[in-house]
Amino acid sequence: MSERRFKIAVFPGDGIGQDVTEAALAVLGEAVAGVGGFALNCERLQAGAAHYKATGEDISQDAFEAARQADAILLGAIGDPAIRYPDGTEISPHLRMRDAFGLFAGVRPVKAYPNTPLYLADPRAQEIDLVILRESTEGLFYSHGRGEVIDDSEARETLRITRATCENLFDFAFDLARRRQARGGKGHVTCVDKANVFKAMAFFRKIFDERAALNDDIAVGHTYVDAQALFLVRKPWAFDVLVMENMFGDILSDIAGGIVGGMGMAPCAEIGLEHGLFQPAHGSAPDIAGQDKANPIAAILSGAMMLDWLGARHGVEPAVAAARLIEAAVTEGFASGRVQPAEFGGPHGTAEITRTLLDIVRETGQAKGRPAA
Ligand code: ATP
Repeated sequence: MSERRFKIAVFPGDGIGQDVTEAALAVLGEAVAGVGGFALNCERLQAGAAHYKATGEDISQDAFEAARQADAILLGAIGDPAIRYPDGTEISPHLRMRDAFGLFAGVRPVKAYPNTPLYLADPRAQEIDLVILRESTEGLFYSHGRGEVIDDSEARETLRITRATCENLFDFAFDLARRRQARGGKGHVTCVDKANVFKAMAFFRKIFDERAALNDDIAVGHTYVDAQALFLVRKPWAFDVLVMENMFGDILSDIAGGIVGGMGMAPCAEIGLEHGLFQPAHGSAPDIAGQDKANPIAAILSGAMMLDWLGARHGVEPAVAAARLIEAAVTEGFASGRVQPAEFGGPHGTAEITRTLLDIVRETGQAKGRPAA
């Protein structure tokens, strides 16, 4: 049988996007070679602020179409506060991809890695391992560009919740919890809303309950968003998958990200029915670009999420195995003290962290009897 080859549209983008994308591609390449049985065909494409400055467009039509045709999109970081559209907003072609490709599921894993900063005093903070699942195409952000200023005394924005998107989102949440449970997760989905106040939120919860009844192998809970903000600070270790409307997800993902790690530790995926875009949650950080200071872990873990998604979606088990190999290498790197990012005051820059992870991936592959790459 011929080897499965996935086409990846790679946009390194701006600033440290360039640094961390190279790191992620190197580690992905090593894991793919170590596991075998499939291949990545990575095409580097241009988009972002520097590209806009040089050409007058933030992404070419061809590059946008290449992203549409690819099996997955891997993005570094896009934007530069110093380069803007004529209306003063920052360069953001990736946000158009979100709409054009229907990327409704914003997936933000929040995990405590050994020997990384934890901001909660309770020792159970070491056990934090949850996912914020943020609906990303409607909710209050649906109003973006549509809000109205009635007059100088009043402005209005409209929140939109649709059945079709909710059903897809909740089914995604249950699948995610099920797959996490298969590797030791809690198998639990919490619906976060404000159903006690808003009709649209009661509708959101009603659809959640309908889908929960069809996924009764997964335990469920409900919280109001204000209480959930408190719980994320008081007992984040108690949660697994938290699913919520767009604006709530925007806020709670920052709280959740803030209780573990740092900017360079947070991976992110934006997933639709046909497309998946994977990128670190951080921005282009022009202050440290090209100086070997960027922590590439978030980009590397985003790459692992991409492999996991591709493997599950296409039934290519080695791709899932390669994702697990990378995740295990990151955990081992921190646990052993071989990875100590400069981001947290450690001695290791982008290149050193990348080299170490390549070594660990190789060692793990050999320990499992695979040939050295
Ligand atoms: P955006 O609005 O594009 O998300 P931002 O201004 O909110 O960007 P970032 O560019 O993500 O923020 O980063 C803010 C600061 O955090 C950076 O200036 C940098 O010092 C630090 N930082 C961000 N990402 C990393 C990383 N991967 N490694 C080390 N430091 C980082």
